[in-house]
Order: sequence, then C-alpha cells, then structure tokens
Amino acid sequence: MKFKGKKVLVIGAGLAGCDAAMLLANNGVEVVLVECKTLFLNPAQKIKTFAELVCTNSLKSVVPSTGHGLLKYEMKGLGSHILDMGFAHSVPAGDALAVDRDEFSKKITENLKAHELIEVVEAEAENPLELQEKFKCDYTIVASGPLTTEKLENWLTNDLSGEDFYFYDAIAPVVDADTLDYSKLYFKDRHKPTNEEEGEQADYLNAPMNKKEYEEFIKELVEAEKVPAQKFEDYKFFESCLPVDIMAERGVETARFSCMKPIGLEMADGSIPYACVQLRKENLLGSAFNLVGFQTRLTYKEQVRVFRKIPGFSEATFIHLGSVHRNSFLNSRKLLNFDMSSKKFPTIHFAGQITGVEGYTESASIGLYVAWQILRKLQDKEAIKWPVVTGIGALVNYIMTVSKPSPSNINFGLLPPVELTKEERRVRKGRKKIKKEKASLRARESFDKFIEDAEGL
Ligand SMILES: Cc1cc2nc3c(=O)[nH]c(=O)nc-3n(C[C@H](O)[C@H](O)[C@H](O)COP(=O)(O)OP(=O)(O)OC[C@H]3O[C@@H](n4cnc5c(N)ncnc54)[C@H](O)[C@@H]3O)c2cc1C
Repeated sequence: MKFKGKKVLVIGAGLAGCDAAMLLANNGVEVVLVECKTLFLNPAQKIKTFAELVCTNSLKSVVPSTGHGLLKYEMKGLGSHILDMGFAHSVPAGDALAVDRDEFSKKITENLKAHELIEVVEAEAENPLELQEKFKCDYTIVASGPLTTEKLENWLTNDLSGEDFYFYDAIAPVVDADTLDYSKLYFKDRHKPTNEEEGEQADYLNAPMNKKEYEEFIKELVEAEKVPAQKFEDYKFFESCLPVDIMAERGVETARFSCMKPIGLEMADGSIPYACVQLRKENLLGSAFNLVGFQTRLTYKEQVRVFRKIPGFSEATFIHLGSVHRNSFLNSRKLLNFDMSSKKFPTIHFAGQITGVEGYTESASIGLYVAWQILRKLQDKEAIKWPVVTGIGALVNYIMTVSKPSPSNINFGLLPPVELTKEERRVRKGRKKIKKEKASLRARESFDKFIEDAEGL
C-alpha cells in the first residue's frame, strides 16, 4: 500500500472537495472531510447533503467540441466521482448533462460516508493549520467555495491573503467577436495615436454613440428588469466597480464620465463621439470582447435586449453575461504555487471556486487537479505543470497568470490558438466550429499522453 499512513484534510464537501476526497481515498489515502452545512446552511444552500448544485441543475454541455465537453473528458480520465454520479442521475437535457440534484447529492454523500478511508467531520473549519495538526494530516485542501464562512474568511484574510482576497464578483458581459457589425465600430486605444498604417491594431474596439442614442440607452438601463438582491448579497458596491445600471440610476450623465467616457477616443475623422462603449479583447485570438465596465444587475434576458441596442450589436451573441454576486476568491497568481499550494503555508492547498474559477465542472476539475498533485507529492514526486492545451491546464494557467483576478468558466479562448490549414482558413461559415473541433482534439490527445507519461501519477 503505497499511501499507507498518509492523510489529507479536505475542508468543504462541495463539488471540488467531494471530487478531491474521493480521488484521494480511491487511491488509498486517508481523508478527513470537514463540512459545516449539516450544522447550518448558507443562504444559497437548501439541502444538508454534499455537492449541492445551488442554482441550475446543469453540469453543462457534453459535446466534445465545447469547453465543458472537454473538461468532462478530462474529469472522466481522472476518475471523477462527481461526473459518474452526474451521469448516473441525469435527466433529459439535450446536449447538456442535467441531473436530479437531490438524488445526485444524496448518493455522493452516501458514497463518501461509506468509504472506509473517508472520515466525515461535521464542523466549521476556522484555522486550516490547526485542523491539519489536530487530525495529523500531511496536506490540506481548502475547498470552501464562493460562500466560505466568515470565520474561515477571517483566517484567510488575516493569516494568508491580506488584501488579495475578494468578496464580490462583478462580471461584465463578453461578446462573440464574430457577431459584431464592424462597420459601426472602430479600433482605438484611449489617448493613443492609431498606427493601423504600420499594421498595428489597437487593443480596444469602440462603439460610439450620439447624444440621442446615449440618452435612450441610459433610459433603457434604468427601466430594465434587475435581478433582485438575495439577502446574503445585500448589494454594497465599491465605488470603483459600480454596475453600469447603478450609474445610470445616479443620473443621465454619470456613465458618460465613467465607463462610457469618450475622451481620447477620436474617430477616423478626428471627431469625438458623445459617448462610447469600450470593448477589450478577452483573449489573444481576439475571438471575444469584454464590455469594459459593464458589470450589471440586469437579468440575462434584459442584458441581451438592452445591449443589442449598442451600435454594432444588433446581432450580437454573448459568450457570457454580466452579473454581480457574493463570491470569495483568492488572487491565486500572487498567493499560490501552480499546484495550488499556498506560498506561505506549503501544505495548505486550495481547490474549487475559491481559486478563481467559476462553475460546477470547473470547480470539480480543480479539485481533481489538486488531489492529483497531492498524490504525486505523497510519493515524493514533484508536482508537474499540465499542458496548457488541455482544459484543466488552461484553467490553471488562467488563474495563475491573470493580472486582475476575475473568475472564469472554461472556454476555448483560454487555450492557445490552433493552426488552421490554408483550406480551413478559406472556409467562411463554420470556421469557428473547425477551430473548436481542432482545439478539442489537440487537448484530448495531449491529456491522454500526459496522463500516460505521468506513469499512473
Ligand atoms: C448563488 C450562486 C449561484 C450559482 N449558480 C451557478 C450555476 O448556475 N452554475 C454553475 O456552474 N455554477 C454556479 N455557481 C457557482 C457554483 O456554486 C460553484 O462554482 C461551485 O459550487 C463551487 O464549487 P466549490 O466546490 O468550490 O464550492 P461549493 O460547492 O460551494 O462547496 C463549498 C463547501 O464548503 C463548505 N464550507 C464553507 N465554509 C466552510 C467552513 N468554514 N468549514 C467547513 N465547510 C465549509 C460549504 O458548506 C460547501 O458545502 C453559483 C454560485 C452561487 C454562490
């Protein structure tokens, strides 16, 4: 038994914690799993069992040429219990894996509790170092999620992260570059001359508005339906990160002096528009643009309706929409090593949404990734970097390199671009699909080879 006497503490029996605990235990490592939801529920939770899907019951697409399809392939390869239970308790949902959330959660809880190497402790973790010592564990995985309890948050901010711990997530929408009408838009960085003649393209794409368009747009923002604040979200915003609809409510001119400021954004004829929506490339490929400063409380439906009124957006499709919600996450790039261990306390690791990913499958994937790295370390092998062309490798690379942390779902924009053949480049309709299929195939081949080369770890 190569892991005899080895023990890992896992804090949080959510998506990441459950998958990490099961992977470790199935490999012969003893696990102490500490979870507090049996004592009290947080405001998003409704059931006392583990791996609760707090909102939608969908684990997203199973199609291989999608980001979520790719993650599922890799999760399966790593032996994800979450995924197995997802398929075992699936309900019809077309190309998506949707589950009966109660049965899914109940069965995972039963299986974890029944595992001879897993000890479940019903308690609120306050200090991971003390707990690790108390339970005589070699390593710890903190997987306490977006609604980490206050006591643990206090330990994190006081002892580990300082200011590099975030409590809110204000997400701006991201639009698919292929769906914009470029005849109504122009590239220009603020206060910088355009060097297009020299073949340089500015980083920002701008959607100019005249006075009438701007005032109508602000009116739409004010009147649009908003997501009501849940009691735990009791919206308190940082002034530097105000949702655009709150700006609109403060006065018709407010946005024009903030995220829609036109100064320094001269158009080709030298004139300055009345107001401007700025779009920033979301990835190196330029296949998606972030609407700068457009974090919002508008409902998803209303976002699509209102944002399609921005010049050049009439046919826009959104890769993801904006939101503002409670979300605790670390600045992983500053605080963690690539195996998600803390730089300050190397035995303490982090997994799941708290590392800066977003979503059920993404969180579970990071749980598997960290458990996998710990299995190596327990055998005195070094942690190894994953190929960035894989789905999990790309997620890890994202959270370890992004300069301004902003939780991300898996998407192909996080993977390095794929080379297209001459013939493929000529395809006008469907080129995007070809790119995704190629990226997905490259990722799966790379993943298989990587796991094989790692000699079963
Ligand atoms: C309101 C809301 C809606 C969301 N909707 C979606 C959605 O529709 N689709 C989607 O993909 N993602 C959604 N997410 C994100 C999703 O919740 C997370 O991505 C995912 O559940 C995170 O997995 P995790 O394992 O990191 O954390 P969680 O699944 O939240 O698990 C963390 C666990 O740790 C426990 N815990 C916390 N603190 C302590 C402590 N001190 N001691 C012991 N245990 C502790 C919690 O009780 C919980 O069981 C939503 C998040 C929120 C908050």
